Amino acid sequence: MIPFLELGSAYRELKSEIDDAVSRVLSSGSYILGKEVADFEEQFAAYCEAEACIGVGNGLDALHLALLAVGVGPGDEVIVPSHTFIATWLAVAQCGAKPVPVEPDSRTFNIDPERIEQALTDRTRAIVPVHLYGQPADLDPILSVARKHGLKVVEDAAQAQGASYKGRRIGGHGDAVSWSFYPVKNLGAIGDAGAVTTNDPEIARRLRLLRNYGSEVRYYNDEIGYNSRLDPIQAAILGVKLRHLDAWNARRQVLADMYLDSLRDCIELPTTIPFTRSVWHLFVVRHPKRDELQRRLAEAGVGTIIHYPVACHQQKAFADRGFRASDLPIAQKLAETVLSLPMGPHLSTADCAAVIERVKSTVAQMGEPGAPSGA
Ligand SMILES: *Cc1c(COP(=O)(O)O)cnc(C)c1O
Repeated sequence: MIPFLELGSAYRELKSEIDDAVSRVLSSGSYILGKEVADFEEQFAAYCEAEACIGVGNGLDALHLALLAVGVGPGDEVIVPSHTFIATWLAVAQCGAKPVPVEPDSRTFNIDPERIEQALTDRTRAIVPVHLYGQPADLDPILSVARKHGLKVVEDAAQAQGASYKGRRIGGHGDAVSWSFYPVKNLGAIGDAGAVTTNDPEIARRLRLLRNYGSEVRYYNDEIGYNSRLDPIQAAILGVKLRHLDAWNARRQVLADMYLDSLRDCIELPTTIPFTRSVWHLFVVRHPKRDELQRRLAEAGVGTIIHYPVACHQQKAFADRGFRASDLPIAQKLAETVLSLPMGPHLSTADCAAVIERVKSTVAQMGEPGAPSGA
């Protein structure tokens, strides 16, 4: 059986370094914020080519607090991709604002910048592009729409640690960039963790307040804040893993190239844009009989996952917003057809080759025609 992803390998590769980092924190006697968190924030900001990094509890909080920090509040509208992980929408709703979905470019899975302007109203406050599956969204046209209309841009970069857009790392293009270090991410903690990067000192200052009870000086509370601080044990572990991120992302690229070369005539593949560098958080193919393909691959010993099986506008959580399935046909279609193949820095070449062979033979057995046309 080839699992979709096996997380223990990263720990085994770095066991002594990680164990040392954890025991350093345990012995330090400092268990909230402090030097470990500040050190990781400095390293991650430098890695992302951003001025500041603020460590928070998880990726959803990173988005929520970043939206609050740029001024999103009740009654505002925020542009979100129709095809994304639910956290993007939840964070907007948590601010009391309304998520306004915009359909993706179905070749790249990312928000289609051409469709944003028609979704704006006089209540629109911000745009949240998501760098889905590891490939940066097309930021330049998004940033120029935002500038033209006085909107803030908060990037959801949970799946894009190390990715770059037009030669510059993701982390400081928009007003704020939110990160998740949930264990499966390209840079993953051993538990929950997240961060926001920004080049704006005022947004950074607000985030430091918001994550810590709205307080800059202990027991003096300037606003209704939250408790969402990056844990120092996770910060120490992330500091170790950050040193290996580029090598791990390079390994993902090798595996993605194997899939791209070998499955070209067999199944619909992800499209890469020349001026972005994806970090292949996921390798997502499409097939008209996706559920059957997934079932047959499982029988053949290949673990796959669907990212994501229910479009955000179809989730019960948003049932009171009056969306119909047909409002967002591209998101709907993607939810019905996407399938993520095994991908991760510790997937062996032999296992990747075995996945390729089994996908080829399964698709052939299913009798579908060759490379299907675009969604
Ligand atoms: C993982 C993820 C999040 C949320 O991160 P958590 O740390 O699980 O809260 C947000 N957005 C996207 C696109 C994600 O993939």
